[in-house]
This record gives sequence, C-alpha cells and structure tokens, in this order.
Amino acid sequence: MSGEGRQAIVVVGGGTAGWMTAAALVRFTQAKVTLVESDAIGTVGVGEATIPQIRLFNAGLGIDEAEFLRETRGSFKLGIEFAGWNGEGSRYMHAFGHIGQGRGILPFHQYWLRARAEGLAKDLSAYSLNEVAARALKMQMWRQQPGQPTPDMPCAYHFDAGLYAAYLRRYSEAAGATRIEGKVARVERHPDSGLISAIHLDDDRTIEGDFFIDCTGFRSLLLGEALGTGFDDWTHWLPCDRAIAVPCETRGDFTPYTRSTARKAGWQWRIPLQHRIGNGHVYCSEFMEDAEALDILLANLDGKPQAEPNQLRFTTGTRQKHWVGNCLAIGLSAGFMEPLESTSIHLIQSSIARFLQMLPGKQVEPAIAEEFNRQASFEWERIRDFLILHYWANGREGEPFWDLCRAMELPDTLTAKVEQFRAGGYIHREHEELFTEPGWLQVFVGQGIVPESWHPAADGMGDDQLAEMLAQIEQGIERLTADMPGHIEFLRAYCAPQDQRKSA
Ligand code: FAD
Repeated sequence: MSGEGRQAIVVVGGGTAGWMTAAALVRFTQAKVTLVESDAIGTVGVGEATIPQIRLFNAGLGIDEAEFLRETRGSFKLGIEFAGWNGEGSRYMHAFGHIGQGRGILPFHQYWLRARAEGLAKDLSAYSLNEVAARALKMQMWRQQPGQPTPDMPCAYHFDAGLYAAYLRRYSEAAGATRIEGKVARVERHPDSGLISAIHLDDDRTIEGDFFIDCTGFRSLLLGEALGTGFDDWTHWLPCDRAIAVPCETRGDFTPYTRSTARKAGWQWRIPLQHRIGNGHVYCSEFMEDAEALDILLANLDGKPQAEPNQLRFTTGTRQKHWVGNCLAIGLSAGFMEPLESTSIHLIQSSIARFLQMLPGKQVEPAIAEEFNRQASFEWERIRDFLILHYWANGREGEPFWDLCRAMELPDTLTAKVEQFRAGGYIHREHEELFTEPGWLQVFVGQGIVPESWHPAADGMGDDQLAEMLAQIEQGIERLTADMPGHIEFLRAYCAPQDQRKSA
C-alpha cells in the first residue's frame, strides 16, 4: 500500500505514551502511523503500576494476557497499601472493587457506619474481597459459569515499563507502524494557520504529517515548546517535585499490591515484579536534600539494588490545553500528577480512547479539540483532588512537610466532597470521574475522616439483621479467599506457555 491519501499521523516519542498511542492507532484507524524516537534521549524509565482499566486497553488490542505478563515480567495488583499516611504505624488499603454489598437504595458503607458506631462492625477492610485476598498474598480469576455469579475481584498489573514499551513496539511495527530513530531538532509550522506541518531531525531528515501526537515526555517538545501552550502548576496542592527510582532484588512478600509508605517529606513506592522489585522515593525538595532522600530509599529496600538510582525532577500540573490545532499531547508532555494512585498510564489510555472517538479527518475542527480539552480538564482535576486528599488528610503531626500539607487550602471541588462525606457518608461520583465511591470511601476512612452519622434509612434494619448481614459478607469473603492460590503460584500457572498450562 502506498499510503497515498491516507491520513498521516506522526507520533513523536517512544516511551509508554508513544507506543501505546501507536499501537492503538494501527489497531483502530486506517492512518499511516510513523513514530519518531531517540535512543540517545531515552525514556523516563518508570511507570510500572497500573489500575484495572489497563486490561481493557490490552484486550482492545487483542493482546494475550498470559503472554503479556510473561514478556513484561509482570504481576497482579489488587490495590495499593498506604502505610504511615495516617501517622506512623497506620495502614490501610485502597483496594479495587466493591466493599460489601448495598441493600435497596443504600450503599454498603451506610450500614457499616451505623454498625461501626454500635460496635457491630469490623474494620472496613474485612468487607473487601480484594483487600482480604491481597493481604493473604492470594490471587484468583474465575471463569464465568452459566447461572452462577462470578466473584468480583478486579485487578491491574505491575510490569516492567521498558519491557511494556518494547512489547507494544513489536506489536505496532508488526501491524504496520513505521519507527524512525532520530532526534527532533525543529518543529515547522504553517505560516498562516500555525498548524504543524513537519518535524525536522538533527540529521536534516524531514517528517511531514497531517496530525502530530506529542509523546516527548516532560519536555513537551511540540505542545509546550513549539506551540507555547501554558502550564497550570499544581505544586501548591501536590508539593513533591523529585523522585529517585531504583530496582532491587526480589525478596520479601510477593505482594499482589503496590505499597506506598509515607516518609519524612514524601513517600516510597514498592512494586513487585517477577524478576525484581521496583522502588522509588517521591519527595519535596523544599524539605529534603537529594542525598537524604537517596539514603532513605536505599535503607528501605527488600534486597540489593540492581542498578544505579535514577534521579527525576518534575513539576506537578497540566498543560492548559492538551489538543491545540493539529497537535495532541499524550503522556508526560500533557502534564504530570503524583504516581500515588498509578494514574498516569491510565490518563494516556483515556486520552487515546477519547482521541479515537473524536478522530479528525485531514481537517481539524476546533470544536472537537475544545470538547477534548474540556473532558480532559474534568478528568485531570478530579484525579488531582483525589490525590490531594491523601496529603491533606494525613495524620503525621509534627513533621514540617506533613504539617504544611494539612494546612493547605483545598480546591472547592474537593472541599465539597469532604463536607458531603462528613455530613453523613454521602459520596457522589460525578459524570465519568475516574475514582469510584469505594475508592473515595477507603481513602477517607483510611486517613481518619469517618462521619459520625449515616443515611437515616440505614436505621431501618434491626441490630441482629445488621450483624448477620455483616457476618455473611465477611464469611463469604473468607471462604473465597481460603480457596485461592497464592499470588506467585497463580502467576506461574497463568503465565506458563500454553502447552504447559494446567487448567485452572
Ligand atoms: P517518556 O518515557 O519520557 O518518553 C519520551 C519519549 O520522547 C522518549 O522516547 C524520548 O526518546 C522521546 N523524545 C524526547 N525528546 C525527543 C526528541 N527531541 N527527539 C526524538 N525523540 C524525543 N505512571 C503510572 O501509571 N504508574 C506509575 O507507577 C508511575 N510511576 C511514576 C513514577 C515517577 C517518579 C514518574 C516521574 C512517573 C511515573 N509514572 C507512572 C508516569 C509514567 O512513567 C509515564 O506516564 C509514562 O512512562 C509515559 O511517559 P512518556 O512516554 O510520556 O515519556
């Protein structure tokens, strides 16, 4: 095929964002897809924890899950444990999936709030299948059986970021994407329209296109530098601005969850993969020197470091528009929020999905770009609020960084959420905001925001009935968990090549 007449989309950058974008474009469009990346510049080299929606992305591409986990040395993730966020020694989990089961019009947590006040309830965690399984280091997936309910245990992945990009590169090239190795030196814009007409590499090669997707990472070469799109800085809400990442030997528990441990001026992640553990310390440079941050990280590893520490600097915030003219930024070039809830790769995925829905022809309609930007702003701001909640509602009194976080002024949208929850446990998920009611609930409660009242309809159940309902849910979860294999055993069996796979 000559490619003549086909829309030419140029993806600049070959990190996770670039290759996810290229893979989706070759799968779902007829466009001629060219990806330019520079090995000399490299990728950010982090981004290894995800949320369950990633499974939809991979499934959409037709990727075999077992092969994918084998190739990326991945593991399963049932949630994130937050250690020390509500004070030293505290511990809670934001587990994926439901908490308990609602009755009638009421969500489960309304009954739980009442039962808690009456001394009838256990910790919220007892009613989360994901959390109970995660803490027992178990994992399971159920095949749908006709006429039988399938337990709801959503999961995501941990994977090696470099291997994921490499996997998607193989996928994309096999499906027709063209990769060009080279360094972009200059972006050419049409003198009248201001649209990008071509990019020029430092060896004088020129790549023309109809549409350009900026996946150049923090530098934001096209949207930020060439088009001068402004940046909204959110540092006053999410003050961490540095991270050091280092992989270490696999030791300790092979947890089917990410761990986030609060430190003096930030927090540390732990992501278990098949071949290593990914670790990183995210911190605020105003309150901690790089050397101290590194010492803290190295002192808190499961095993020996496996590589030189990777020092990263960032500013939390977002480009004021992600789509300008014939350029869309996806990934770090569009902005960055804390990796605290593993949302960046998801934001890549949702930008891709949105772009595919709005795919322009050779002519770009400003109204479409505007709608894209409106939806993206909504999504980013709601995620931002959820992340801020973790910092603001911390219980680490007496530590200057954390004291400052507790004193910050919240965005109005978050203030409203906190007030509504405090007023009787009301949680509202607006439109398509990412985090669901159980997510907000677990973070509110885990960080010590527990309403003393509940929906009046929760009083409609007798004490015995309430106690029985709670016991049934708890016992059901315990029974299911007892029958699950360990995470490691499940993963080994699941990822075994087809001919060696035992039927699960
Ligand atoms: P990059 O990986 O930086 O890729 C940029 C690409 O652009 C590279 O290929 C580079 O070569 C190319 N490039 C740049 N300039 C040029 C040029 N002039 N010419 C040619 N090519 C060029 N996300 C999660 O979802 N989960 C996590 O757990 C998570 N943890 C994170 C931890 C930290 C500390 C940080 C900073 C980020 C984390 N993220 C996480 C975010 C995640 O890493 C990124 O969203 C993801 O890796 C996508 O990055 P990217 O592809 O946009 O940029």
